[in-house]
Amino acid sequence: MLEKQYSVDHQEIAEYFPVQTTVAGMLKMVQHLFGLQFRQVHVDSENTWHPDVQVFSAWDSEELGGRFVGYLYLDLYSRAGKTSGAANFNIAPGFVNKDSTRHFPTTALLCSFQRPSAQTPSLLRHDEVVTLFHELGHAIHDLVAKVRYACFHGTETAVDFGEAPSQMLEYWCWDPAQLKALSHHYSSLPDEDLASWRDKHGDQQILSPKQIPDHLVDSLVKSKHVNQASAYLIQLCIALFDMTVHQPESHAAIQHMNMSATFNRIRSHVLPLDTPERPGPGYEWGHPQARLTHLMGEYDAGYYAYLFSKVLAADMFHTVFEGDLEDCKEGMRYRRCLLEKGGSQDEMVTVTGFLGRNPSTQPFRDELSPA
Ligand SMILES: [Zn+2]
Repeated sequence: MLEKQYSVDHQEIAEYFPVQTTVAGMLKMVQHLFGLQFRQVHVDSENTWHPDVQVFSAWDSEELGGRFVGYLYLDLYSRAGKTSGAANFNIAPGFVNKDSTRHFPTTALLCSFQRPSAQTPSLLRHDEVVTLFHELGHAIHDLVAKVRYACFHGTETAVDFGEAPSQMLEYWCWDPAQLKALSHHYSSLPDEDLASWRDKHGDQQILSPKQIPDHLVDSLVKSKHVNQASAYLIQLCIALFDMTVHQPESHAAIQHMNMSATFNRIRSHVLPLDTPERPGPGYEWGHPQARLTHLMGEYDAGYYAYLFSKVLAADMFHTVFEGDLEDCKEGMRYRRCLLEKGGSQDEMVTVTGFLGRNPSTQPFRDELSPA
């Protein structure tokens, strides 16, 4: 559907997002927006957990005094034994020591992007670029928080607020100007990537422009909301299932609950589509709930947080940043009013303080019914 009706060619788009230039561009964007500087630190591989790991020290910008902020570790490529997907992990929280000195935070992004080789550069699909920004949103929250106690540091917030800063940063991946600035066709990179392009295309003249052309950006941006309502309904269905299994009256009640039937009944109610795996009437088929690992981690009885914080992210983005995604004055205000607070005060107070009013669901609802 995306290819036929919206002419979105994800493979062609990926050619403009090699991992290393995308990561560098992404760091440049957040440096500008939040008053930071990142400097790569060359460490011996025995001082990290794998030779792939890149280490960056983060500092306040010169205008802010150039003080040290913390360390960012990037472990970008997949390898045997490494978890799949992408995630941000706090390695050491920031807090104030007994002698009033500061203990600086260390945070890590773990991804599983395809490892580059002489034949194939590591190119990111657009959804992977979005994921990268999302996880970087967590990492920045983790780096710049300034709280007294470690238990309130950075992403240690109420579960239904914690995703908002990372979800908000995703909006930068859907803005044509930001996408263009971030793009860099792999054939215009020196060395291995150019060699791999020549391997594929021979001596043919390189016709691809360095930056992603407008028609590819247009098709991508137009497709942003395709199938989004279904995706949200699936999230709603998981959230309802999560709440159902976390509030039975007794231990015996949960032991006797038919998990598959409960999940399928909720899904049929929330998203009444005939799916190919459904063999017939009734609800006792398949075990789709078995894939929901979030329900046994930090998101137990908290899966609703993804949708809840999306509403906050939409409000913050459309209210404050939509007019100018490079407004570093607002970026700094966001850093000071929201990111620095971590979980040290009621998150609704934090959001209300940043917005200057109570949060509204309207911007999120407007997204669901684009003109
Ligand atoms: Zn997240």
